[in-house]
Amino acid sequence: MKKEIKLKIKQDYAKKIKEGFPLIEKEALTNAEILSEEGQILHLMDERGRFIGKGYYGEQNKGYGWVLTRHQDETIDQAFFEKKIGVGLQKRSSFFKDNSTTAFRIFNGEGDGVGGLTIDYYEAFYVVSWYSEGIFAFKNQILKALQQLVEYKGIYEKKRFNTGGKYIDDDDFVTGERGEFPMIVKENDVQFSVHLNEGPMTGVFLDQRDVRKKIRDQYAEGKTVLNTFSYTGAFSVFAALGGATKTTSVDLANRSYPKTVEQFSINGIDYEAHDIKVMDVFEYFKYAVKKQLTFDMVVLDPPSFARSKKHRFSAAKDYKDLLKQAIAITEDNGVIVASTNYSGYGMGKFKGFIEKAFKETGHRYKIEEQFTLPSDFATTKEYKPGDYLKVVFIKKL
Ligand code: SAH
Repeated sequence: MKKEIKLKIKQDYAKKIKEGFPLIEKEALTNAEILSEEGQILHLMDERGRFIGKGYYGEQNKGYGWVLTRHQDETIDQAFFEKKIGVGLQKRSSFFKDNSTTAFRIFNGEGDGVGGLTIDYYEAFYVVSWYSEGIFAFKNQILKALQQLVEYKGIYEKKRFNTGGKYIDDDDFVTGERGEFPMIVKENDVQFSVHLNEGPMTGVFLDQRDVRKKIRDQYAEGKTVLNTFSYTGAFSVFAALGGATKTTSVDLANRSYPKTVEQFSINGIDYEAHDIKVMDVFEYFKYAVKKQLTFDMVVLDPPSFARSKKHRFSAAKDYKDLLKQAIAITEDNGVIVASTNYSGYGMGKFKGFIEKAFKETGHRYKIEEQFTLPSDFATTKEYKPGDYLKVVFIKKL
């Protein structure tokens, strides 16, 4: 077993941790210099030397690691991970029973008690994502724990350490049988083609499940839909299945075209009846204004940060302007689905951007729906940034 390192936490931060805050923030440490190897078990004390919790050292964004337990006699071993993952699985038991959805998250980082680790299920395959070298150091214990608990065909992994945005591995296979990719999974009876061994993304963002369903079931019928930052066209496919008269998908990445054709095709939709554009969304907005194109529904789902030849987008600074561009090409009584996965602000501030964008364009609006993460993406109320997803359906009046 690894030796525990004693770490002193500044008083204010110690109080937060005692109350359930799971992140060991960089500013919280009084003696960070003793951290030497990611994966070290940290014995956290307040400034008077009283025990407050145990965690591990793993650098991830603003943190030096995560708190794992507040019990001094609990050891961090395979049994510990088995317990945590077991509870995670139990919480998702209704997902396992529902045959209409075969891809979902079974373990969501600090929301399930182990920051830096997520596990997704894709029809008999599991994908384990490691968000730091530190959590990766527990790979053997965590995999053994998972293997004890579930039946699986194969396990894949995603190493998502801080590496300046570069993805590290070219083979993510871990154990079991290799899958044949692309493979088909289902979400509310819609087919998704996914690839578990093709870089960090698998072809579907599982956290938007409820939003896609809402669009299909209650918003798409008879509507024209513009889907920006469309990736594999997931929102377009759900809109088309919900009776949209036409969808237009716009994404800069070349791969988005064949991927979107594939998603339409496996769901029996004629992709030629829809527009799929490989281009910069910001150029598309200009083009739409010039051609006087308008839409009944506009989906905005940008990454937190994006950079193209001509444009730079940051969800922190530029979301209001993005909304203004969408408002300009949305029909009256049309709906803008504004989404962001930026964890730096919450729903309140996001709605502030919506308010400003409409005010500055001289339009009134009404919020029709709002979504945060779905239930399989468990969060803890003590850690707000973990509840990163914000989606608002806004009717332009
Ligand atoms: N809405 C998608 C996920 C979006 S992922 C879904 O539901 O599946 C973000 C996407 O934005 C990526 O596919 C990336 O290629 C695209 N992107 C980033 N900057 C862009 C830009 N300026 N114009 C168009 N697409 C962009």
